[in-house]
Amino acid sequence: MKFCSDCGTPVDLRIPAGDSLPRHVCPACGSIHYQNPKLVVGALAEWEGRVLLCRRAIEPRHGYWTLPAGFMENQESTADAAARETLEEACARIEVGEMFTLYDIPHISQVHIVYRARLLDLDFRPGEESLEVGLFDEADIPWEQLAFRSIEFTLRRYYEDRRQGSYRFHTGRISPPLGL
Ligand SMILES: [Zn+2]
Repeated sequence: MKFCSDCGTPVDLRIPAGDSLPRHVCPACGSIHYQNPKLVVGALAEWEGRVLLCRRAIEPRHGYWTLPAGFMENQESTADAAARETLEEACARIEVGEMFTLYDIPHISQVHIVYRARLLDLDFRPGEESLEVGLFDEADIPWEQLAFRSIEFTLRRYYEDRRQGSYRFHTGRISPPLGL
Protein backbone atom coordinates (compact mmCIF):
# COMPACT_ATOMS: atom_id res chain seq x y z
CA MET A 1 0.00 0.00 0.00
CA LYS A 2 1.36 3.43 -0.95
CA PHE A 3 -1.54 5.81 -0.25
CA CYS A 4 -4.19 6.00 2.42
CA SER A 5 -7.45 4.60 1.03
CA ASP A 6 -9.38 7.01 3.28
CA CYS A 7 -7.69 10.33 2.41
CA GLY A 8 -5.04 9.71 -0.29
CA THR A 9 -2.01 10.79 1.76
CA PRO A 10 1.16 8.65 1.35
CA VAL A 11 1.24 6.15 4.22
CA ASP A 12 4.10 5.33 6.59
CA LEU A 13 5.11 1.81 7.53
CA ARG A 14 5.54 1.74 11.29
CA ILE A 15 4.51 -0.11 14.43
CA PRO A 16 1.52 1.64 16.01
CA ALA A 17 1.51 2.18 19.79
CA GLY A 18 0.46 -1.00 21.54
CA ASP A 19 0.98 -3.13 18.42
CA SER A 20 3.82 -5.51 17.61
CA LEU A 21 3.99 -5.51 13.80
CA PRO A 22 4.63 -2.76 11.23
CA ARG A 23 1.42 -1.43 9.67
CA HIS A 24 0.58 1.07 6.98
CA VAL A 25 -0.35 4.15 9.02
CA CYS A 26 -1.69 7.39 7.58
CA PRO A 27 0.15 10.41 9.04
CA ALA A 28 -2.71 12.72 8.02
CA CYS A 29 -5.93 11.01 9.17
CA GLY A 30 -4.44 8.41 11.52
CA SER A 31 -6.04 5.41 9.81
CA ILE A 32 -4.22 2.11 10.37
CA HIS A 33 -4.55 -0.14 7.31
CA TYR A 34 -4.28 -3.75 8.48
CA GLN A 35 -3.50 -6.50 6.02
CA ASN A 36 -4.76 -9.93 7.01
CA PRO A 37 -4.79 -13.42 5.47
CA LYS A 38 -7.20 -14.30 2.71
CA LEU A 39 -9.60 -17.21 2.76
CA VAL A 40 -9.94 -19.43 -0.31
CA VAL A 41 -13.04 -21.62 -0.12
CA GLY A 42 -14.03 -24.51 -2.34
CA ALA A 43 -16.20 -27.58 -2.71
CA LEU A 44 -15.57 -31.25 -3.23
CA ALA A 45 -18.84 -32.05 -4.97
CA GLU A 46 -19.82 -35.68 -5.47
CA TRP A 47 -22.15 -37.37 -7.91
CA GLU A 48 -22.54 -41.14 -7.57
CA GLY A 49 -19.00 -41.53 -6.24
CA ARG A 50 -17.42 -39.23 -8.77
CA VAL A 51 -15.90 -35.83 -8.00
CA LEU A 52 -16.35 -32.55 -9.88
CA LEU A 53 -13.07 -31.03 -11.10
CA CYS A 54 -12.37 -27.88 -13.14
CA ARG A 55 -9.41 -27.18 -15.42
CA ARG A 56 -8.23 -23.64 -14.82
CA ALA A 57 -8.51 -21.02 -17.56
CA ILE A 58 -6.71 -18.44 -15.42
CA GLU A 59 -3.35 -17.95 -13.75
CA PRO A 60 -1.91 -19.13 -11.49
CA ARG A 61 -1.70 -22.73 -12.70
CA HIS A 62 -3.51 -22.21 -16.01
CA GLY A 63 -4.44 -25.57 -17.53
CA TYR A 64 -4.19 -27.49 -14.25
CA TRP A 65 -7.06 -29.22 -12.49
CA THR A 66 -8.66 -28.04 -9.29
CA LEU A 67 -11.75 -28.31 -7.17
CA PRO A 68 -13.97 -25.27 -7.70
CA ALA A 69 -12.65 -22.72 -5.21
CA GLY A 70 -11.87 -19.05 -4.87
CA PHE A 71 -11.50 -16.04 -2.64
CA MET A 72 -14.27 -15.47 -0.17
CA GLU A 73 -16.26 -12.25 -0.59
CA ASN A 74 -17.24 -9.87 2.17
CA GLN A 75 -20.67 -10.45 3.73
CA GLU A 76 -20.88 -14.13 2.86
CA SER A 77 -20.42 -17.33 4.84
CA THR A 78 -17.76 -19.88 3.96
CA ALA A 79 -20.45 -22.33 2.87
CA ASP A 80 -22.01 -19.65 0.67
CA ALA A 81 -18.58 -19.02 -0.85
CA ALA A 82 -18.18 -22.71 -1.69
CA ALA A 83 -21.56 -22.78 -3.44
CA ARG A 84 -20.92 -19.50 -5.28
CA GLU A 85 -17.49 -20.55 -6.53
CA THR A 86 -18.90 -23.87 -7.76
CA LEU A 87 -21.62 -22.01 -9.62
CA GLU A 88 -19.13 -19.54 -11.12
CA GLU A 89 -16.46 -22.02 -12.16
CA ALA A 90 -18.56 -25.04 -13.09
CA CYS A 91 -22.07 -23.55 -13.50
CA ALA A 92 -23.05 -26.30 -11.08
CA ARG A 93 -25.53 -26.27 -8.23
CA ILE A 94 -24.57 -28.05 -5.03
CA GLU A 95 -25.85 -28.79 -1.58
CA VAL A 96 -23.00 -27.88 0.74
CA GLY A 97 -22.25 -30.44 3.46
CA GLU A 98 -19.62 -30.60 6.19
CA MET A 99 -16.37 -28.65 6.25
CA PHE A 100 -13.77 -31.23 5.25
CA THR A 101 -10.29 -29.67 5.08
CA LEU A 102 -8.59 -26.54 6.36
CA TYR A 103 -5.16 -25.91 4.92
CA ASP A 104 -2.77 -23.19 6.13
CA ILE A 105 -0.35 -21.57 3.70
CA PRO A 106 1.31 -19.03 6.02
CA HIS A 107 4.05 -17.82 3.67
CA ILE A 108 1.47 -16.44 1.23
CA SER A 109 -1.02 -15.53 3.97
CA GLN A 110 -3.81 -17.78 2.73
CA VAL A 111 -6.09 -20.33 4.34
CA HIS A 112 -7.84 -22.82 2.07
CA ILE A 113 -11.10 -24.42 3.20
CA VAL A 114 -12.93 -27.17 1.32
CA TYR A 115 -16.45 -28.41 2.03
CA ARG A 116 -17.84 -31.73 0.99
CA ALA A 117 -20.91 -31.23 -1.16
CA ARG A 118 -23.51 -33.01 -3.22
CA LEU A 119 -23.97 -32.11 -6.87
CA LEU A 120 -27.69 -31.56 -7.42
CA ASP A 121 -27.87 -32.39 -11.13
CA LEU A 122 -25.69 -33.00 -14.18
CA ASP A 123 -26.41 -29.61 -15.71
CA PHE A 124 -22.88 -28.18 -15.47
CA ARG A 125 -20.43 -26.64 -17.91
CA PRO A 126 -17.24 -24.57 -17.76
CA GLY A 127 -17.64 -21.11 -16.30
CA GLU A 128 -15.54 -18.10 -17.35
CA GLU A 129 -12.54 -19.23 -15.32
CA SER A 130 -12.55 -22.87 -16.47
CA LEU A 131 -11.39 -24.57 -19.67
CA GLU A 132 -13.32 -27.74 -18.95
CA VAL A 133 -15.27 -29.35 -16.14
CA GLY A 134 -15.81 -33.02 -15.47
CA LEU A 135 -16.74 -35.77 -13.06
CA PHE A 136 -13.87 -38.06 -12.12
CA ASP A 137 -13.57 -41.53 -10.64
CA GLU A 138 -10.65 -42.03 -8.30
CA ALA A 139 -8.71 -43.94 -10.96
CA ASP A 140 -9.02 -41.00 -13.35
CA ILE A 141 -7.97 -38.15 -11.03
CA PRO A 142 -5.13 -36.28 -12.79
CA TRP A 143 -2.84 -36.35 -9.74
CA GLU A 144 0.14 -35.01 -11.65
CA GLN A 145 -1.85 -32.11 -13.04
CA LEU A 146 -3.52 -30.79 -9.91
CA ALA A 147 -3.17 -27.03 -9.50
CA PHE A 148 -2.51 -26.73 -5.76
CA ARG A 149 -1.21 -28.84 -2.91
CA SER A 150 -4.25 -28.03 -0.81
CA ILE A 151 -6.37 -29.67 -3.52
CA GLU A 152 -4.20 -32.78 -3.60
CA PHE A 153 -4.30 -32.89 0.22
CA THR A 154 -8.09 -32.69 0.16
CA LEU A 155 -8.53 -35.37 -2.50
CA ARG A 156 -6.08 -37.76 -0.78
CA ARG A 157 -7.91 -37.39 2.54
CA TYR A 158 -11.25 -37.84 0.79
CA TYR A 159 -10.34 -41.18 -0.78
CA GLU A 160 -8.67 -42.39 2.43
CA ASP A 161 -11.76 -41.54 4.48
CA ARG A 162 -14.07 -43.02 1.88
CA ARG A 163 -12.22 -46.33 2.09
CA GLN A 164 -12.52 -46.23 5.91
CA GLY A 165 -16.23 -45.61 5.61
CA SER A 166 -16.39 -42.28 7.46
CA TYR A 167 -15.29 -38.72 6.83
CA ARG A 168 -13.32 -36.69 9.35
CA PHE A 169 -12.22 -33.05 9.40
CA HIS A 170 -8.56 -32.66 8.38
CA THR A 171 -6.10 -29.82 8.77
CA GLY A 172 -2.84 -29.38 6.92
CA ARG A 173 -0.22 -26.77 6.19
CA ILE A 174 2.55 -26.12 3.78
CA SER A 175 5.78 -24.21 4.25
CA PRO A 176 8.15 -22.64 1.75
CA PRO A 177 9.87 -23.36 -0.59
CA LEU A 178 7.11 -25.67 -1.79
CA GLY A 179 4.85 -22.88 -3.06
CA LEU A 180 1.13 -23.33 -3.42
ZN1 LIG B 1 -5.51 8.99 5.64
